[in-house]
Amino acid sequence: MTKLTINKYAAKKIVQGIAVLDARDFPGNTYSEGFAELYFDHQLLSQAYFSRQNKGIGWAVKSIDFIQLLTDAKNKRQSYAQDTATTAYRVFNQDGDGFGGMSIDIYEDYALFNWYNAFIYTLKNEILTAFQIVFPEILGAYEKVRFESKLPISSHIYGKMAPEKFIILENGVKYQVFLNDGLMTGIFLDQHEVRGTLLQHLAAGKDILNLFSYTAAFSVAAAMGGAKSTTSVDLAKRSRELSEAHFKVNGLALDAHKFHIMDVFEYAKYAARKKLSFDLIVIDPPSFARNKKMTFSVAKDYHQLIADALPILNRHGKIIASTNHARLSRADFLDELKKGFGTQKFDVIETFHLPADFATNPSDPQSDYLKVFVLEVK
Ligand code: SAH
Repeated sequence: MTKLTINKYAAKKIVQGIAVLDARDFPGNTYSEGFAELYFDHQLLSQAYFSRQNKGIGWAVKSIDFIQLLTDAKNKRQSYAQDTATTAYRVFNQDGDGFGGMSIDIYEDYALFNWYNAFIYTLKNEILTAFQIVFPEILGAYEKVRFESKLPISSHIYGKMAPEKFIILENGVKYQVFLNDGLMTGIFLDQHEVRGTLLQHLAAGKDILNLFSYTAAFSVAAAMGGAKSTTSVDLAKRSRELSEAHFKVNGLALDAHKFHIMDVFEYAKYAARKKLSFDLIVIDPPSFARNKKMTFSVAKDYHQLIADALPILNRHGKIIASTNHARLSRADFLDELKKGFGTQKFDVIETFHLPADFATNPSDPQSDYLKVFVLEVK
């Protein structure tokens, strides 16, 4: 394996436990794509690999023994594997499981691999062989290619083919998923605890507005948790049919559950004009979005979503404010929320991070990218 002597800035981060390698700590491009041993002061600090991706230029890794890495990851998730009310969860999560650049999700009998850089993709056969030894119960697998390449972004990779759409369970609620249609699957598994809180206590008897609703997973959890009504708003035309399917598989009549294919900013104006109001508003936008009229970025514009939600929120109403923007810290997100509230007082009554199956690197707050605050207006 290539031996590489690194500078003190890179060494300091590795000693701290930060796994992602930052281009700024490797001036002069002293590295080449592939595995390397990182040395500082004649001491081996870590094994690593270099490959440019969205996040950094590579990863310090705990081990290159995939059987061991996958076995450890599987052992950590025993409680998920045994939970018959939940059949979809993450079973390997990048540096949280000792090897960045790859994550693996379980959807019932199938696995979904996410590859985040070109080098890990060259290890695919080795990883799949190890995976099939450690997870013999998985019948078939799919992949999503999440780095720049000419490869198809979504493909079947081994074993049995999954039905085009099928049902998984989460806390006993049914969700329809699809593993081979673009990058998304019909559900964002990292939000399962937030859906759990809606199901268990937050939604009962409430009128709920779900902004950026995608397949209305939050609305379905709320409806199953006894919500009086749900209203889901998303720009994508396809979201109506996918949302309705979620309600139907759970035996929920659609009378009290509405869908609007609409820009959320337009919807907020429309709802204020019609004097509609809600007890709970869920706001879970993409980190960046662009439409014909405007661009939206969570880091700069989230406050506007809060400001637009307040006039259509009932007294003592609640907002679930969520973002998965890794480069926005929890403190900066909270500042953005405060800006939206202006002089209106509020309490933070519950907060969420990534759930345990989305194992994070405790030394690197950026790896815990999910930030969710449940806010109550005073
Ligand atoms: N909250 C969802 C996930 C949201 S994904 C869930 O829990 O499953 C982001 C969604 O925002 C996408 O479905 C996209 O179509 C939608 N979107 C992006 N910009 C929008 C806008 N301006 N108005 C409404 N929806 C928008």
